[in-house]
Amino acid sequence: MSPASLHKTAGKIPDPDIPSEEDEVIIGLEVHCQLDTRTKLFCGCSTDYRDDDPNTHVCPICMGLPGSLPRVNKKAVEYALKVAKALNCRVLEESEFSRKNYFYPDLDKGFQITQYDKPLAVEGVLEIEGDEGDKKVRITRVHMEEDPGRLVHKGGTDRPKYTLVDYNRAGIPLIEMVTEPDLRSPKEARRFLNKLRATLEYLAVFDSEKEGSLRVDANISIQPKGWFEKHGKGLEERGRVEIKNISSYKGVEKALTFEITRQKNLIRRKQKLESTTRHFVETRGITTSSRSKEMEQDYRYFPEPDLKPLRVCEWCDHIELPELPDARRARFMDQYGCSPNHARTLTGDLRLAVFYEKVADVDNQLAATWVADTLLGELNYRDISIVDMSPSHFIELLELLREDVITDKSGVEVLRFILDQLKEGCTCEAPSACVTRLNLAKAGDEGLDAVINEVIGEQPQAVEDYRCGRKEALNFLVGQVMRKTRGRVDPGDVNRRLREMLPKGGT
Ligand SMILES: [Zn+2]
Repeated sequence: MSPASLHKTAGKIPDPDIPSEEDEVIIGLEVHCQLDTRTKLFCGCSTDYRDDDPNTHVCPICMGLPGSLPRVNKKAVEYALKVAKALNCRVLEESEFSRKNYFYPDLDKGFQITQYDKPLAVEGVLEIEGDEGDKKVRITRVHMEEDPGRLVHKGGTDRPKYTLVDYNRAGIPLIEMVTEPDLRSPKEARRFLNKLRATLEYLAVFDSEKEGSLRVDANISIQPKGWFEKHGKGLEERGRVEIKNISSYKGVEKALTFEITRQKNLIRRKQKLESTTRHFVETRGITTSSRSKEMEQDYRYFPEPDLKPLRVCEWCDHIELPELPDARRARFMDQYGCSPNHARTLTGDLRLAVFYEKVADVDNQLAATWVADTLLGELNYRDISIVDMSPSHFIELLELLREDVITDKSGVEVLRFILDQLKEGCTCEAPSACVTRLNLAKAGDEGLDAVINEVIGEQPQAVEDYRCGRKEALNFLVGQVMRKTRGRVDPGDVNRRLREMLPKGGT
């Protein structure tokens, strides 16, 4: 929750005369990411809790026992400052921690330590690929807070028989980033999140592969076109829905898409759109209405008396940032001659960028095409991470392609064979061994000639048709040769060789 959401929306009945093409989708995001520190935000407990028994990473501080005193984890502040700097934010001279008071079983001390009216940093911007070209998404604020514990509902979330609570997660450092409502479609929201994730990973402050490391709240409303720009936040014509606690990137896009359809249907039926909170049910791809939300004033925020304000501006000036996605994208185009699209894809994920640089030397262009276009698609299809792919195997595959030992089609077959082995957890064979095993070596001239002779012998009618000048007969014969060689020859070679070997026309 940010102070921005204090605004109440007008909630008037929408003008039924406005057709939906005249509407505009307004989206803002609140993104919570776990900072990848070794210890928690205010105590020395380890953050490496995921495979351990419940309530084994706890101490009096993160349990909030009376008399315990929190101390700020310097590393967490450093990480948060890196994020603020990378998002081009202004770091406040003085920021402070506040207590957000509420009662819930995942928060045994009755309050969460967060930042309220004096956040770490404000007024940033992150550039993304928008629906209509490059777009600057404004960042309202960046602040730090502690994660609450985790509730485990036994017997389903709808009507659990009982609920267990695990405080291992309580006190893990979170960074919350709030955007202005600058996004205009679910796809833009997804691209914003991808860019944000990449930026955080380049900074080495976040590990997106850890379960539950990212959670998103999304605000969405549909306004008459131009209304929002004219009247601004807080004076919307129609109510705004906040979708809480979405835990995956794909989930955000799905939830927003569902919500647009739902809201458009209400508008079409001339029903009033109220400002509400909804939950995303990932398994069903829908949002459902949830309990009415507390208002800001219900939380009785006040400055945390056990922690001093942070004065970190000067420190922040001295923090150096590593190369970030935009800089690396520019470098890939410059250094490797990557196309803008390939450069964007390859640098959009740190692991992919690192992988590309390991294999690029074989042939920059060939490597860019095969990593960005072929490998990425095959990995996604099988849900395999790029870190599991061996760069040396991939280098060998690129060499086989470069040396013309195999055709592109066979290259894909080899790659698929290797990835299928990976998926099954087997030890992968080297690409050259796969080529032998699958008999994919490119047929040499002699081999090709033999197959062509075979086809000429088997297809006298087509040969005769070709001789009489029917061009389509040639395509048919090429197809026959390709089939017999199972893609181990280039169609261009087959075409050329067939023309040379077929009897010439008498006309
Ligand atoms: Zn602790």
